[in-house]
Amino acid sequence: MQIAEGTVVSIDYTLKNKHGEVLDSSAGNEPLAFIQGAGQIIPGLEKALEGKAEGDKLQTKIAPEAAYGARDDALIVTLPKDRFRGVEAIEAGMQFQASTPQGPRLMTVQKVEGEHVTVDGNHPLAGEELDFDVTVRGVREATEEEMSHGHVHGPGGHSH
Ligand code: ZN
Repeated sequence: MQIAEGTVVSIDYTLKNKHGEVLDSSAGNEPLAFIQGAGQIIPGLEKALEGKAEGDKLQTKIAPEAAYGARDDALIVTLPKDRFRGVEAIEAGMQFQASTPQGPRLMTVQKVEGEHVTVDGNHPLAGEELDFDVTVRGVREATEEEMSHGHVHGPGGHSH
């Protein structure tokens, strides 16, 4: 069976940046399972997998535009420290979820200077070209229940 919209795909993968450093990998875990066409993985990887079948291996470089987008300097903002009430010690590198008009967004603290905190709302992988090494472990038709829930059930997915 070939990977197409509405199939449940399981993959083993290793993700590297353009310097060859491993950023993420399924090694040691269950394969990653997702519904093709449901936007659960980055668009560039969905596209590269289309038409592949169980046992296929592929290596693909994905431009930022088809991954986590370009970096946007407008997402770097400086806020007064009192906006972080309830946080004991704010330090560079801390991450937190902020609600924005575009939905929840992961913010990373860049620096803390006196009463000001600079946060970066870019995805940590924004602006990065990504290098994926993928082995397709399984392809099957999604069940109606999975399509209505919008996620995979069973190994690598939800177990409810
Ligand atoms: Zn479900």
